[in-house]
Parts: sequence; structure tokens; C-alpha cells
Amino acid sequence: MRCRTPALATTASPAPEVNLHDYDLVLLNTSAGKDSQAMITHVVELADAQRYPRHHFLAVHANLGDRVEWPGTRELAERQAEHYSIRFEEVRRERGDLLEQIEARRKFPSSTARYCTSDQKTSQVVKLMTREAAAFRGRGHDRPIRILNCLGLRAEESPARAKKSPLGPDPASNGRRDVTRWLPIFDWTEVDVWQTIGRSGVPYHPAYAAGMPRLSCVFCVLAGRKELVLAARLNPRLAQNYVRLEARIGHTFKPGLSMAEIVAEARATA
Ligand code: SF4
Repeated sequence: MRCRTPALATTASPAPEVNLHDYDLVLLNTSAGKDSQAMITHVVELADAQRYPRHHFLAVHANLGDRVEWPGTRELAERQAEHYSIRFEEVRRERGDLLEQIEARRKFPSSTARYCTSDQKTSQVVKLMTREAAAFRGRGHDRPIRILNCLGLRAEESPARAKKSPLGPDPASNGRRDVTRWLPIFDWTEVDVWQTIGRSGVPYHPAYAAGMPRLSCVFCVLAGRKELVLAARLNPRLAQNYVRLEARIGHTFKPGLSMAEIVAEARATA
């Protein structure tokens, strides 16, 4: 199991370890980013220790759009799941990727209106849960499927995340599925995450080696200026698409920070 790093340990309550045998399906949400990757390794090691079979796992990647995510993200998510012989599914919003949705709404998402996460990710994963619940019933079960919904969120990422509970009921529950949300690496530091990835030997995305602290969307509305400038330098064509989108909808990427400014800074500091 992983080594803890006392010097950087957070004060967040440790994520309680669960008995996986209480669940029919363990759903591993993966962006292919470092936290998802470390979370998968950790849960798989727990499963092996508890002799819980891998065929009850399902890794799900909610794709925000191939042009919106870092190149190779979907393929990497699948490869990471394959490494552990875990079933893999990709889900997408049928009515268009994130850029199409922004264009239709004529507004970028923000920290107070994160429709990017709710519509492009959470809703699509809930539809997958519905399909899994139907398949479970189709196998002759006459009770709700018990799903453990695992996410790689960490308390030290933000004060809002630190307030979350690492284990509890998931609002996706209904009469046909009983869903528990678990944040298995809630109290981990970034050092814990990289140590786990390092010893696992599973490949990680090259964007990290290029200096990016996070993966998922290339241009995240929650990212800082420095991060966005680096992303624009590494993805100049996509950055231009965002600049054109800003001009078409008359709304800036972030309050007080336009993609046009980000691109100008990326060029000036290249
Ligand atoms: S990475 Fe940022 S922009 Fe993309 S879905 Fe997540 S919060 Fe929204």
C-alpha cells in the first residue's frame, strides 16, 4: 500500500476504507488525470486485499469532447483501466460537446455555474448507472443494485472540496439503484498521489511533464492564469478556437480574464 508523507499531510479526515463486498458494482470515475489514476490503483489494491473480483469494477470516462480534452486523454483512461483488467466505458453528452454547449448557452461555465461538470460528466455517468441497474435486473435480481461511486477528489485541492464528506449517500440513488459516494484518496497529498503512480508503473499523461498541474479540459474555467497561459502555449490552435468563440458569443472565458488575453500572454512569453 502507499507511503504517507507526514510533512505534507492534510488535516482532512481520512477516507474510511469500505468493505467492497457490500457492493454489486464499483464505479471508478476517471478523467485519466493523476488523482483518478492514483485512486484506481488504491481501490484495486484494496480489492485484491479483500479478494473482491475485478469483474465487478467499471471505469467510466466522461468525455467533454476530444477537442476540449488534452490529446490522448480518452485512450490513456482506457489503457489505465486495461492495465488492471477493468471494464471501461466512455460516456458523452449526446447533444454536443462542451464547446457546442457553450456556444448554445452563449456563456462559459464558471465556479458558480458549473454546467460543464453537471451536464457533461455527472448526468452522463448517471445514465450509465441506469443502464447498469437495468442489466442487473436482467440478470434476475429483484432488488436495487448497490453501486459504490468512487471519485478521485482530494481535500487539499480547494476549501470547497475539503468540506465534502469522504463517504455517504449519493444523490443518484433511486428505487432501482442504491448509490454510495466514496472519495478514497480524500486526505491524500499530491506527493502521495505521485508516489502511488510512480510505484504502479502505469503511464501518466505527458501534460504533467510539460508543467500542467491538472488534466481534464485543456482550458478549465477554474484554472489560474499561469496554468491557462501554459495550456495556450501548448495548444495554440485550440486556444484560437476559444478566442473566436468568445468573440461570437460576446462573453469572456472567465470574469475579468479573456482567452484573447491569455493567448496574447502566451505569445509574448513563448
Ligand atoms: S475541467 Fe474545468 S471546465 Fe472542464 S469540466 Fe471540469 S470544471 Fe468544467
